[in-house]
Amino acid sequence: MSGRPLHLVILGRQGSGKGTQCVNLVGHSGTLHVSTGDMLRAAVADGTELGKKAEAIMNAGGLVSDETMNGVVAERLAKHDIKEHGVLLDGFPRTVVQAEALERIVGKRGIDAAINLDVPVSVVTERMLARGGSDDTAEAIARRLSLYDEQTAPLIDWFDDRGVLVTVDGLGTEEEVFARLRSVIDARA
Ligand code: ADP
Repeated sequence: MSGRPLHLVILGRQGSGKGTQCVNLVGHSGTLHVSTGDMLRAAVADGTELGKKAEAIMNAGGLVSDETMNGVVAERLAKHDIKEHGVLLDGFPRTVVQAEALERIVGKRGIDAAINLDVPVSVVTERMLARGGSDDTAEAIARRLSLYDEQTAPLIDWFDDRGVLVTVDGLGTEEEVFARLRSVIDARA
């Protein structure tokens, strides 16, 4: 796609289809996918300083410190490839402190859209139960989802206050959801 490189953020519950739609979105928008979860897992696998810091926190289901994450993302977004192609940020920001850091990192350029891929809790719960991984008991799923909502609700408001929140209905087939996402991108490119 031609036009100005976009700066996008995506938010979505576990089981919302965010992973699949990120692949579709980068394909359509030409942006680069920057997933902080993927970056941290790679750092753990490589045994870097960051990985050593993050491993225990991630295993315990906690959040890596804002200071660390802000540094990681600032460094990544400063690279030339992002200026050239834009970015789809996935997993960051996760707190309002991180959102404020992102605002400083991108500066005047701003964020073009923060896409909230919206799938109701009841639906993602069914999907995760059907998938049935070892930590996918009903209680564990409910705990993870309520933690996500607690952490994410302030971010949704934060992006909404800045006029960049776009809620996309995540119900339907992959193609139906992708069509909605495409129109969000096409309206901003
Ligand atoms: P999940 O959907 O399981 O939270 P992610 O791949 O987004 O998966 O992240 C995996 C883990 O990495 C998180 O549980 C958290 O410990 C850490 N992490 C990722 N992004 C951030 C962030 N922006 N701030 C703090 N911790 C993060």
